[in-house]
Amino acid sequence: RPTILWLRRDLRLHDHPALLAAHEEAGSGGVLPLFVVEPGLWDGAGEVRRRWLAQSLQALAASYDHRLVLRYGDPASVVPAVAAEVDARAVHVTRESTPHGRRRDAAVERALGDVPLRATGTPYAVAPGRVLKGDGTPYAVFTPFARAWHDHGWPGPADAPRRIRWAASDSDDQAVTAVSDAADGEQLVQPGEDAALGRWDDFVEEAVAAYDTDRDRAAVDGTSRISPYLKLGVVHPRTLLQRIAHLRSNGAATMRTELAWREFYADVLWHHPRSAWHDLRPALTGMDYDEPGDLVDAWKAGRTGYPFVDAGMRQLLATGWMHNRVRMVTASFLTKDLHVWWPIGARHFLDHLVDGDLASNNHGWQWVSGTGTDAAPYFRVFNPVTQGERFDPDGDYVRRWVPELRHLDGKAVHQPWKHADGHAHGYPERVVDHAEERREALRRYEAVR
Ligand code: FAD
Repeated sequence: RPTILWLRRDLRLHDHPALLAAHEEAGSGGVLPLFVVEPGLWDGAGEVRRRWLAQSLQALAASYDHRLVLRYGDPASVVPAVAAEVDARAVHVTRESTPHGRRRDAAVERALGDVPLRATGTPYAVAPGRVLKGDGTPYAVFTPFARAWHDHGWPGPADAPRRIRWAASDSDDQAVTAVSDAADGEQLVQPGEDAALGRWDDFVEEAVAAYDTDRDRAAVDGTSRISPYLKLGVVHPRTLLQRIAHLRSNGAATMRTELAWREFYADVLWHHPRSAWHDLRPALTGMDYDEPGDLVDAWKAGRTGYPFVDAGMRQLLATGWMHNRVRMVTASFLTKDLHVWWPIGARHFLDHLVDGDLASNNHGWQWVSGTGTDAAPYFRVFNPVTQGERFDPDGDYVRRWVPELRHLDGKAVHQPWKHADGHAHGYPERVVDHAEERREALRRYEAVR
């Protein structure tokens, strides 16, 4: 009898504890690898995000000898149905820590009846919930968490099982193949585990040493772009951490800290599932927000009249990714210049980002809007013009994503309204006045403080 390996955020072959466990229990019965396309997650996702999942599944299928079984539907009915079809001994998974994932897995476990659901490993170096303060309570602030996380440590990457025997079943892969085959437009990174490991090795060799300085430069490819792979578990963070463990540069140290942010936010979500869609700290309860309207549509479309903001929003729609510095500036613009509550923006990001991850995204939004963990103080409002001039000093990033401004040289692109021909090619006028809206944001803040 086979075991089922039900895959979710672990689309890889190497360093996969749940696959090892499924393989061990299956013996000669073989492992049936199953991915369930959940309508709730698939149907609402933007095109680029969906394409990235489809391509990643195809790459995974190739590394699993084309035995990956795809099914579409609610896992609480699909997983037990497949288990019954193949008379499975057990269903193996990587343990999930998001609110949806935990609820879903509990429902599947109940529906499986006598067939056990066995969880091994997590998508993190250290399982969310494991790093606690001396008194047994969770950390609320990043820096002490990161220190304790590092001291906690983690095992080295596990080898892939040797000579896996795959079990077979019918696969309904039409929806996924259609999306993946229709791929066109800009491809941020190539799908698959080999591409992920290659991308990381190139980054370690060529860019990690300068990462601490280059990571803020929007026009430079100075970050790893490993996030789309981490999102789907195409590579495990333990593997990434091991490959930089011997490096002593500031760049490598900064990268370890960035990976720790991902672990921190997952830990926060584990302890406070409500923080996914509600203010983590009650500091701004009662704050006066505006209803989303035309201005939010302009923000989504990259037509606010602020070039650095618009470049980011267009990069998001075109590639499913946005530079971290620009994520902060665009998020600040929505919450502080347009006075819109952060979940509206977080939803839009999650629908389009290929790395869209509930914990990192929604807590990143809370950090910017001043409601999250060790938040940037609310009164710190990003200025979209000076941020652009500082982190895109030559204007290359803006010209790359906003073709209507390509006729402007250097940093002139950041203030087209100062140039007679600035709006000559259809670039919109500013939808709000930043200085005025900054005062308005502070006024609203003072009112609830
Ligand atoms: P690198 O700079 O190369 O960093 C390497 C890895 O470290 C990243 O892939 C990521 O896993 C982790 N990391 C880096 N910075 C952060 C951070 N601030 N928080 C958590 N993890 C981090 N990251 C996501 O993975 N998914 C999201 O949905 C997401 N949404 C965000 C929304 C907002 C408003 C903000 C401000 C940040 C968000 N981030 C998110 C964090 C960060 O912007 C991305 O991780 C990063 O831009 C991904 O590109 P990279 O892999 O080249 O990053």
